[in-house]
Amino acid sequence: MGKRSKREEEYLEALYILAKEKEVIRIKDVARMLRVKPSSVVEYLGKLSQKGLVRYEKREFVTLTDEGRRIAEEIYRRHVALKKFLMLLLRVPEDIAERDACYIEHGIHEVTLTRILRFIEFVENCPVGVPEFLKHLEYYYAHNEYPPECYHKKEEYCRGEDSR
Ligand SMILES: [Zn+2]
Ligand SMILES: [Zn+2]
Repeated sequence: MGKRSKREEEYLEALYILAKEKEVIRIKDVARMLRVKPSSVVEYLGKLSQKGLVRYEKREFVTLTDEGRRIAEEIYRRHVALKKFLMLLLRVPEDIAERDACYIEHGIHEVTLTRILRFIEFVENCPVGVPEFLKHLEYYYAHNEYPPECYHKKEEYCRGEDSR
């Protein structure tokens, strides 16, 4: 990745999300989504077009090229995974998870991302439904102590040790 700027990735990601929602993407949609002036959008799209990442000819509608789409998909994949991770494991509220995912997605190492994807996989495919540890963790976040269950388990375990 390396040389792509955060701004470039944000633009591609925004275009990708807009393209899923709308048939045509207009400058004002992009401006609204990225909270920048339409004139800045026009200027930056010119740069992306020169790099072959977007098609922006009639100065009104914009589409991603195959290369632009490939990059955007990768960023969006990270975004979705990170947001899920922040909400699942850390119980971060959705709006904050959304915001932070969008920061982390630009700098995260592929190795860390893979671990996060594995974690989500683990949680979502657990044969018992929500994994036990996650329920305990949730209790811990809410009450600042381990659930009674954990203490019971410890007692059982200690008794087991004594009888040996
Ligand atoms: Zn972002
Ligand atoms: Zn994002």
